[in-house]
Amino acid sequence: MNRRRRVYEGKAKVLYEGPEPGTLIQHFKDDATAFNNKKHALIEGKGVLNNRISEFIFQKLNEIGVPTHFVKRINMREQLIREVEIIPLEVVVRNVAAGSLATRLGLEEGKPLPRSIIEFYYKADALNDPMVTEEHITAFGWATPQEIDEVMALALRINDFLVGLFLGIGIRLIDFKVEFGRLWDNEQVRIVLADEISPDCCRLWDVATSDKLDKDRFRRDLGGVLEAYQEVARRLGVLTENPRPKGSGPVLVSSKPN
Ligand code: UDP
Repeated sequence: MNRRRRVYEGKAKVLYEGPEPGTLIQHFKDDATAFNNKKHALIEGKGVLNNRISEFIFQKLNEIGVPTHFVKRINMREQLIREVEIIPLEVVVRNVAAGSLATRLGLEEGKPLPRSIIEFYYKADALNDPMVTEEHITAFGWATPQEIDEVMALALRINDFLVGLFLGIGIRLIDFKVEFGRLWDNEQVRIVLADEISPDCCRLWDVATSDKLDKDRFRRDLGGVLEAYQEVARRLGVLTENPRPKGSGPVLVSSKPN
């Protein structure tokens, strides 16, 4: 099966050559890492859930006109995507103080921010993904000023959409990280959403209980990581528990006498 050429292997995903030029296959692994790879574990089934959750979100974003690299899901762990040139930035959008922002600025975790805040981190594991400003990004040529404007506009649209989507299923979107890429389309370059959107890269808190339904369960040793991801998938309506093909196999018969 893996005679396909592996193009790239990251911490949680592998990219293989796709069936046609300009396409790739994105494979979701069960690996969970945190603190720049210092903490690592296998969470069996996580890749399957993230594939489904990310498919659902990217499809919805495509539908509302946010351009993404997503084409279609192929199987339990893989999706067909368009090949893009990744802009080497992690774009973080925050609605509520948490994580590194709360630590750095001494904010109380869970406090809503005065408005949504966008931050940029330079993708460089060896440097621990340092935070950078637009000045650094343009001076070092990682993206042009126009591209940064486009990235920020898309990030805010994605945030507005996701906040509403998650609120509708009783989840507060605290913050999330996204990545963008350049897609060549007949000599034209477009900025599109790439990578994934899943509980691996979002902070998702239950509205009623503030329970964490995301990777912080792994980072902070809270247990129940897979169950939390399953809960997100279930609420989004994408958890298909062993669907039985129609018209085949045993049929459930009522045990009650009639
Ligand atoms: N995040 C991510 N990958 C990273 C760093 C952060 O997906 O390498 C996500 C993280 O899950 C959270 C948001 O970006 O939803 C903001 O993370 P923060 O800067 O607070 O980092 P952390 O607390 O994880 O160090």
